[in-house]
Amino acid sequence: MYIVVIAPECAPVAKVGGLGDVVFGLARELEVRGNSVEIILPKYDCMRYDQIFGLQVAYADLWVPWYDRSVRCTVHFGFVHGRRCFFIEPHSEQDFFNRQTFYGCSDDDQRFAFFCRAALEFMWKSGKQPEIIHCHDWQTGLVPVLLYEIYKPMGMTHPRVCYTLHNLFHQGVTGEHILRASGLNRPSYYFHQDRLQDNFNRGALNLMKGGIVYSNFVATVSPRYAWEIMHTDQSRGLGHTLNVHRRKFGGILNGVDYDVWNPEVDPHIRRRYGVDSLDAKFENKRALRERFWLQDAFKPIVCFVGRLDNQKGVPLITHAIPYCLANGCQFVLLGTGADHWITHHFVGLKRQYNDNPDCHLEIAYDEELSHLVYAGSEMILVPSLFEPCGLTQLIGLKYGTVPIVRATGGLIDTVFDANHAHKPYSERNGYVFNDFNAQGLESALHRAIGMWYAFPQHFRELMANGMRCDYSWNHPARHYLEVYELIRDK
Ligand code: ADP
Repeated sequence: MYIVVIAPECAPVAKVGGLGDVVFGLARELEVRGNSVEIILPKYDCMRYDQIFGLQVAYADLWVPWYDRSVRCTVHFGFVHGRRCFFIEPHSEQDFFNRQTFYGCSDDDQRFAFFCRAALEFMWKSGKQPEIIHCHDWQTGLVPVLLYEIYKPMGMTHPRVCYTLHNLFHQGVTGEHILRASGLNRPSYYFHQDRLQDNFNRGALNLMKGGIVYSNFVATVSPRYAWEIMHTDQSRGLGHTLNVHRRKFGGILNGVDYDVWNPEVDPHIRRRYGVDSLDAKFENKRALRERFWLQDAFKPIVCFVGRLDNQKGVPLITHAIPYCLANGCQFVLLGTGADHWITHHFVGLKRQYNDNPDCHLEIAYDEELSHLVYAGSEMILVPSLFEPCGLTQLIGLKYGTVPIVRATGGLIDTVFDANHAHKPYSERNGYVFNDFNAQGLESALHRAIGMWYAFPQHFRELMANGMRCDYSWNHPARHYLEVYELIRDK
């Protein structure tokens, strides 16, 4: 099958969170299975250009309709670790993708609406008619709308669209100007509850809703999150729309790229190890301690890796630090935040714990370092308020780092409590707590730390159980291929 992926992120060149990992990992697995995959991305100025090989101009003068004129774009082509990627560079006074950031500009709605229009215009002008267009999150929600309303009548009748929702917290709620900008010239038609009108604010346009309504299939990143966004307030207003379209909606658990995240082959850690050579993991613990100036003591290391965002459970992370330190653990954090106040809060904590030989907070984004944190720690904390899928617990499992998670979204689908899961012991792989408060968190941390100290052999079995789990792209890629097969133009 010929598949074109249109996405705002792709690891490792443009990665903010799990979405980037998913775009790369799924594309890789689809190609391994004999499909042809191309990825279209914006050409951000802040990308990791050292990870793009053979960058060259693929289409010099692409004129993209925008408001009542056209914007000239250059489309570049390059390989990202073997994946074929096209990068769209607009030449306009707004300089959409030269902002030194991926997201967070006041005109993000326009930046990504333009990207959608430009991606389709490029496909149209260069004669690309794939079986499947796979798009991701609100940033590409306009793709199926534009395809159906503009490009299909022009003759682009072959492609069908699969749309993956990674997080309903950001839906691309915007105004009428986006319709005029992107060439959808009948506002009253699109401002309809069955199309793009926001379910809360009747005067606003919801780009993610457009993606849901116009796609041939809508997936989200775990079965549990699929249920939550149909039946609880996690949907943030889109529950009704998802219920209306439930026959083309389902949850497919994300995978992890075990070529990148695998302690047996990882080039970024001091000593490689596997389930049969678990002792070697502890050399990475030593390396992590050296890197973060932690003392060498008989204590487990608890880590947190992720965006410092409300979603990730800021109050519980904050509470976990003194709790772990007071209960015989070391604590390590690697994270950055987009929110000024949350960053400020963690910088304050960093200062507070600066001289503590058992604690290190690294307020940074560092892909290579994250490998050592996963490999060197014994437990990984994921106390999220909500979590569509979550990759850090899956990576933790592969590295024999026992996850301690809150029971929400994809965390429920992937982590099974050592004491309470309805599973045989050999399938239990972590600790789970329900309540989003200090008592909930402590109930799980207390059990995990107690097990490490009192029953080290049992704790080791838990580590090994996690390492034996298969959360590779093997299963999810098969599911996505079944979806593609179901919807493609036969
Ligand atoms: P989300 O997509 O909500 O950010 P996920 O758990 O799905 O969360 O994915 C997070 C991904 O981003 C993981 O691969 C994690 O290792 C990576 N990551 C997050 N923060 C950092 C950081 N500060 N440094 C390095 N990698 C990070």
